[in-house]
Amino acid sequence: VTWGEHDLAENIVHMVLARTGDQLGTRGMSLFLVPKFLLGAAGTPEVRNGVSCLAIEHKLGIHASPTCVMQYDDAVGELIGNENEGLAAMFTMMNAARLSIGVQGVAVSERAYQQARAFARDRLQGHAPGAPAGERSPIIDHPDVRRMLLVIASSTMAQRLLLYSTAAERDRAAARDAAEAHQRRVDLVTPIAKSWCTDEGVRNASLALQVHGGMGYVEETGIAQRLRDVRIAPIYEGTNGIQAIDLAARKVSRDRGAAMNALVAEMRLTVDAIGSDDALAESVDALAAAISNLEQMTAIIVDANEVDTLAAATSYLELAGLVVGAWLLAAHAHRLRREHSTAADRAVALSRFFAGERLPEVAAFAARVRSGARHHATL
Ligand SMILES: Cc1cc2nc3c(=O)[nH]c(=O)nc-3n(C[C@H](O)[C@H](O)[C@H](O)COP(=O)(O)OP(=O)(O)OC[C@H]3O[C@@H](n4cnc5c(N)ncnc54)[C@H](O)[C@@H]3O)c2cc1C
Repeated sequence: VTWGEHDLAENIVHMVLARTGDQLGTRGMSLFLVPKFLLGAAGTPEVRNGVSCLAIEHKLGIHASPTCVMQYDDAVGELIGNENEGLAAMFTMMNAARLSIGVQGVAVSERAYQQARAFARDRLQGHAPGAPAGERSPIIDHPDVRRMLLVIASSTMAQRLLLYSTAAERDRAAARDAAEAHQRRVDLVTPIAKSWCTDEGVRNASLALQVHGGMGYVEETGIAQRLRDVRIAPIYEGTNGIQAIDLAARKVSRDRGAAMNALVAEMRLTVDAIGSDDALAESVDALAAAISNLEQMTAIIVDANEVDTLAAATSYLELAGLVVGAWLLAAHAHRLRREHSTAADRAVALSRFFAGERLPEVAAFAARVRSGARHHATL
């Protein structure tokens, strides 16, 4: 448990899932609030409750975050919500937490990008095409290094846009009349925001380390810490495998693709709106094809049997993440161009790069979705 024990606050409250009867499975769990100190007559923390930290875990990364092995021994807890409805109650917290973990993906990507770009400007090695004869070049001038930096930069921007737009949908769901439609969108994109951003975060941290060459693997540059720290993000708050199942088997299969197809329709409106913008013509063509692919794969998930759905879930989520990312990048670039923003050129460059370099991956993920469990073998 993250920060399960510390002395930074006068009391700590734990949200704990526990069984009150012998009903098995998730339906038998109830949610309890278990404080470290029970309150005395004056309402202040007084009596030590039976909850303690047995040990601090030794971990791959996030060493500034104590991960505690907790013991509950005759601890007193207060029931939150209804008995046996603990999992649903916990999801109020989990859904916000899933987005916070997605933010870890974008945060580490951004930091890794800044470090890698600074290193690439400084480090002289080899001779880049077009550089003056006899001079060593900063590695940022080598096309392959530029590619790596652009992968990180465009992915980071796409992640940021996805998280902002999800946060905005959450606000609309809380505040507006058409709350239900906004909530359906939040429910649909939350597993994508958590999984896609954290998987991209790991890939970006690894690429940023690669930009450093051998210096990336030694501790002096500090880039290795980014990779260690972000590696937990695809695991906690529900592994990315579980998020993918949430997307495919619950959010898409159960409503027969209605929420995803509403998103597809909205993306097509953007494609139409950008249609006449020459600077984005290439991005938009690739995007339109990718959106059709997402629509087709959604239909396949809706009709697939359980095993194929579960086997295809991660590929489906990766595909959806790429398409949504490309959509948001194109829409963002178009908006900045309309506003004559000084940031427009960079946004267009990132949108074009992402559409050209990353969207071709959609076809590979689509092939895997089609395969389902067909190629699975006994292990
Ligand atoms: C640093 C750190 C901090 C943490 N902090 C907290 C905290 O504050 N509070 C808290 O409650 N927990 C915390 N955790 C626990 C964390 O949430 C779990 O480790 C995580 O959700 C994965 O669960 P698990 O370890 O039981 O893995 P398992 O459920 O055993 O999963 C192992 C593998 O099997 C896969 N898998 C499991 N079930 C299925 C299935 N039905 N279908 C398909 N694949 C499946 C998973 O995707 C994974 O790849 C923390 C963990 C770490 C490492």
